[in-house]
Amino acid sequence: EKSLPQMLRESAEKYPHNNALSFYGRKVTYEQLSQAVTHFASALQNRGMEAGDRVAIMLPNCPQYIISYFGILTTGAIVTQVNPMSVERELEYILNDSGAETIVVFDALYAKVKSVQASTNLRNIIVVSLQPSGHEFVPDTKFEVFLSESSGRTSVVDVDPAEDVAVLQYTGGTTGRSKGAMLTHRNLLANVLQSHEFFKNDIKPGQERSLTVIPLFHVFGMTACMNLSIYTGAEIILLPRFDLEEVLNTIKNEQPTMFPGVPTMYVAITNHPKAEEYGIGSIEICNSGSAPMPVELLKEFERKTGSKILEGYGLSEASPTTHCNPSFAERKAGSVGIGMPSTEYKIVDLATGTEEVPAGEMGEVIIKGPQVMKGYWNMPEETANTLRNGWLYTGDIAKVDEEGYLYIVDRKKDLIIASGYNIYPRDIEEVLYEHPAVQEAVVIGVPDEYRGEAVKAVIVLKAEKEADEAQIKEFCRQNMAAYKIPNVVEFREQLPKTSVGKILRRALREEVKSK
Ligand code: ATP
Repeated sequence: EKSLPQMLRESAEKYPHNNALSFYGRKVTYEQLSQAVTHFASALQNRGMEAGDRVAIMLPNCPQYIISYFGILTTGAIVTQVNPMSVERELEYILNDSGAETIVVFDALYAKVKSVQASTNLRNIIVVSLQPSGHEFVPDTKFEVFLSESSGRTSVVDVDPAEDVAVLQYTGGTTGRSKGAMLTHRNLLANVLQSHEFFKNDIKPGQERSLTVIPLFHVFGMTACMNLSIYTGAEIILLPRFDLEEVLNTIKNEQPTMFPGVPTMYVAITNHPKAEEYGIGSIEICNSGSAPMPVELLKEFERKTGSKILEGYGLSEASPTTHCNPSFAERKAGSVGIGMPSTEYKIVDLATGTEEVPAGEMGEVIIKGPQVMKGYWNMPEETANTLRNGWLYTGDIAKVDEEGYLYIVDRKKDLIIASGYNIYPRDIEEVLYEHPAVQEAVVIGVPDEYRGEAVKAVIVLKAEKEADEAQIKEFCRQNMAAYKIPNVVEFREQLPKTSVGKILRRALREEVKSK
């Protein structure tokens, strides 16, 4: 059994001269990456870092992210993922919860770290500048200077892949207080091997190029873009943000073969007037995850670009992938596919959480497999709630069909209960996406005196298309039962999103509450 740094070393031995990273035309080979990782690890050890210590990374996608990640793991320390969009309060919370004494941070975010440092245990701040001029005035250590503190070698650390935590993956907080999911080396490597087993007909060792625009601090980017690529000797084409023109030009110039993404990215591409002209069809796998991919959009994307989307499902607590539509068997639009290898799953009664419900019926999906986390950091109660008898309770409502394909219906927390009816926002959203003028749609429950909750739709219209509230409601009337029709329809220029591109329902609900 291997640790993650061993996985990198093996690829560096197999493919020393292959490009591992590509960043704005700059390439880093596997050999160079592996050497930089050793230097980073050695410099950490020189500063007294030991196995089990936590080291935070707060960076956009860039080569330094990957060097830090594997460098930290080489010392047996634990990578603590911090979303670069975090505000001071969130950053302070994660630093204190994890107890990290060291952080690697992007220069533009340096001031934030400084402003919370006094109320944390931070003593090492390593600053990454992506511009050569950088922030000259920074009194802490610049990344390059830190690397030069290396003695060129690391002292050997025994990592127990089964037990030792590699990453604290803080849940994104679309729903509430952030919890650090403890992912071990075994968890993360298992998910790499499962994904590889699943896609092996499509993956040519040492020859793939993966477009990496979903952030690496997010569990999907970490596994699907970074770790899977490193395992297969692929080139990781890094982009620090989703800028539509830049993404399309990168596709055209670098011709990636894989593009893990989230639905909002594929939506943006589909709506580009010249999407056809960028050679997207050469991408063999667009694996979509993290949020539901509306069926209508999936079809439109495939029609326009000639590529194909394989929708999957997962969560931070499962490293993340547990299900995906296969390329070797039937794909079903609207479904997140079948279980990954060695992944058990069942649908249980929503209220009791114990009895399994028959195929076709809705309940909570629970999961067992080698990718399931060890627990939440410092949260024994939350852990006991979420991991019961080895099963991970996902909090997602789902059903399976006779062939074992999983359909995610909604999160338990997003369920709307209006006049005693259970209403699944996703049902309504799927219909709204069929309306020709709708570009994005989200449905939430808002407090209502008479019904308990009322249904509200928030819609972004396509450029140069029009529709008003009455037309949308009429469209719904033709396509859904009366009790589901949104009571209120609001139009917006854009929807609030997380940094991965998930629509932030919580923000919309809170706006309503604070009115
Ligand atoms: P939090 O768990 O704190 O609410 P989060 O959304 O950031 O926030 P993640 O672990 O990133 O947490 O996301 C996992 C969740 O994303 C799943 O539990 C599920 O609700 C949703 N999800 C992932 N993939 C899909 C998919 N293909 N279809 C529908 N929902 C999905």
